[in-house]
Amino acid sequence: MDNQIYKSGERVEKFCAVCGEERGHVVASVTKAGRITRVSCPKCGTRSPYKSGEVTARAAARPGAPYDSTHTYRAGQSMTHPVFGVGEVTAVIEPQKIDVLFPDRMRRLIHAQGRG
Ligand SMILES: [Zn+2]
Repeated sequence: MDNQIYKSGERVEKFCAVCGEERGHVVASVTKAGRITRVSCPKCGTRSPYKSGEVTARAAARPGAPYDSTHTYRAGQSMTHPVFGVGEVTAVIEPQKIDVLFPDRMRRLIHAQGRG
């Protein structure tokens, strides 16, 4: 059942013992079969071994789809950035710029790339 193939740089939900809370971790290394072996916490930077089954359902727990600069976002949409974590679009600043509120702070990202 758990035969998902993961790649380095993807995100999985995992409890960080250092932060003391569950958050999206960046996949740091995988086996040739696509099994996660190590993940790193984007907030505190702690790398920890990853055991299969530790994931609390990648799809179900994910509030936003991965950030895609070619996607056109609207205020209120959420995304998961590979570095900054889960963010919510607060405003469209320019046709190709959006403000996104991440757990640490607001960041300006590009979107709708390759259009117009
Ligand atoms: Zn942490």
